[in-house]
Amino acid sequence: MMKRIFQALVLFMIPVLLPAKGQVIERVDPPSWFTGMKNDALQLMVYGREIGSYDVKTDYPGVDVSTLVRTENPNYLFVNLNISDEAVPGIVTLTFTHGRQKLTHSYPLLARPDGPARGFNSSDVIYLLMPDRFANGDTSNDNVAGMTEQADRSKPGGRHGGDLKGIEDHLDYLHMLGVTGIWLNPFLENNQQHSSYHGYSTTDFYKSDPRYGSNDEFKNLVTEAHKRGMKVVMDMIFNHTGSFHWWMKDLPSKDWIHQFDEFTRTNYRASTYMDPYAAESDRMLMEKGWFDVTMPDLNQSNPLVETYLIQTSLWWIAFSDLDGIRMDTYPYPQPDMMSRWAKRVTDEFPGFFIVGEVWYDDPAQISYWAYNKKNSDGYRSNLPSVTDFPVCFATHRAFEGKTNPTDGLSKIYNALSQDYLYPEPLRNVIFLDNHDMTRFYTQTGKSLEAYKLGLSFIMTTRGIPQLYYGTEIVMEGDKSLGDGRLRDDFPGGWPGDARNVFTGTGLTEQEKEALDFTTLILNWRKNKEVIHTGKLKHYIPSDGVYVYFRYDCSESVMVIINANSKENRAISGEKYAGSLEGFTSGTDIISGRKIDDLKSFTIAPQTAMIIELK
Ligand code: CA
Repeated sequence: MMKRIFQALVLFMIPVLLPAKGQVIERVDPPSWFTGMKNDALQLMVYGREIGSYDVKTDYPGVDVSTLVRTENPNYLFVNLNISDEAVPGIVTLTFTHGRQKLTHSYPLLARPDGPARGFNSSDVIYLLMPDRFANGDTSNDNVAGMTEQADRSKPGGRHGGDLKGIEDHLDYLHMLGVTGIWLNPFLENNQQHSSYHGYSTTDFYKSDPRYGSNDEFKNLVTEAHKRGMKVVMDMIFNHTGSFHWWMKDLPSKDWIHQFDEFTRTNYRASTYMDPYAAESDRMLMEKGWFDVTMPDLNQSNPLVETYLIQTSLWWIAFSDLDGIRMDTYPYPQPDMMSRWAKRVTDEFPGFFIVGEVWYDDPAQISYWAYNKKNSDGYRSNLPSVTDFPVCFATHRAFEGKTNPTDGLSKIYNALSQDYLYPEPLRNVIFLDNHDMTRFYTQTGKSLEAYKLGLSFIMTTRGIPQLYYGTEIVMEGDKSLGDGRLRDDFPGGWPGDARNVFTGTGLTEQEKEALDFTTLILNWRKNKEVIHTGKLKHYIPSDGVYVYFRYDCSESVMVIINANSKENRAISGEKYAGSLEGFTSGTDIISGRKIDDLKSFTIAPQTAMIIELK
């Protein structure tokens, strides 16, 4: 079966003749560029029949054609430009000549955004949402001519019609919820035949999928988020494209992607990079094997591919003024290239936020890619942030009430005790779940109490919390039913929805309670500097109770998590004397309860207390 699919893909890779109706330039990527960039270099990929035999000139002030690069495919020409500080925004006329034939192309130079990047840090809470599944703000784009897959809301893996307008329409809701940023699962064109809604099979790096809206609509969404003091993270994928990417019909070169005689899958083992004993063949497979049959693996060792990919990210940052990138499948592309990429982005936009998806339940492996990590093999990722899967997996088992040293709350304690591996653990993105996992609420036995414990923890421990859409109303999602069911439509996002989170209509008492709880904690966290940057001190969990403090020179917060399902637990201040010195009372921000005597008080079963100490 795989072999047959692969053979079908190979047919798509065989160059086809283009229509002979006169010479045209079909495509120039990037479609525009920017003045005022620190790095003057720009490489255009020009695509058109026999364009490789042309020369290129321009007389635009401050813009020079430095070199031309040709590949074995005559339909491509790579044009290296130098854009000096003299260049001002305008239309650059590029003149292509071959013998007596002449072509021109008008190339826009735009002004890059002013000011430093806003970035993300541990003062933020990022709301992750899937554009197809959050809200349908424009039903006229549910089906678009030229797009293969049609909308079908009855299928969990079909397109449901959500879009960028739907997100923009509900920014006020997100602002009230207390999140400070949104991360959109990919919105770039995915003109694939099936399951195109998830967005991880890019078919055009420079174009929003028209079923989500236009590039300008994305830019507008970023502007509207900024007006509310919120920021935006864009999801990018450098490891692979979709099998229906436009260039798959006529690849720039055979080595543009990794090709094998038959379909060859990655082994998904990033440990082969840092393992001193890894076999070369295993490491090769990790990097060059395909992530899936419909996801051709890009060859980032080809300098033209490297430049193409790096420029896509710079372009989206400068075009839309976005604030962060979440890089999918971070360890799968060529690691040195990825390191150069992160450096180039953060050199060009200092303070810009990038989080790499590194999905392993092992802090040692995650930390290999972390910011400022000096690995013994010399590798430096230059990556500002990594996804903290070990802490996530720990939360799935933490609230079961088990009290031995390796289960229950000790899962969390033990995961955090590995933080010596990270130079700056505050940069880790922490979460209870995401679009690829069974939702936390389902994972923990559909218990509202467990949700409250989990949220209390993730919003008060160290790191940058990320909240998956629907978590605030304890949406269910079971991976064994298929990925589509992890990404159900958000109630109220579709015209005619009987249940509506945005208006509060038709919600169950439990959903309302979860929403109120989430809103309370997030809005409290928003201005709580001690939670953002304060130090963390935690005590070995005992008797199903975990106690930790976030503190700085002016403030201290005591967090108590009682995972026992039945009994009250007595809290003895003496045990935490080292952290309570100088404080006599406190107030639990969840219940409003005042603790007059910190030396001795009780906590109810399955309850968290977040106590501001006085
Ligand atoms: Ca729509």
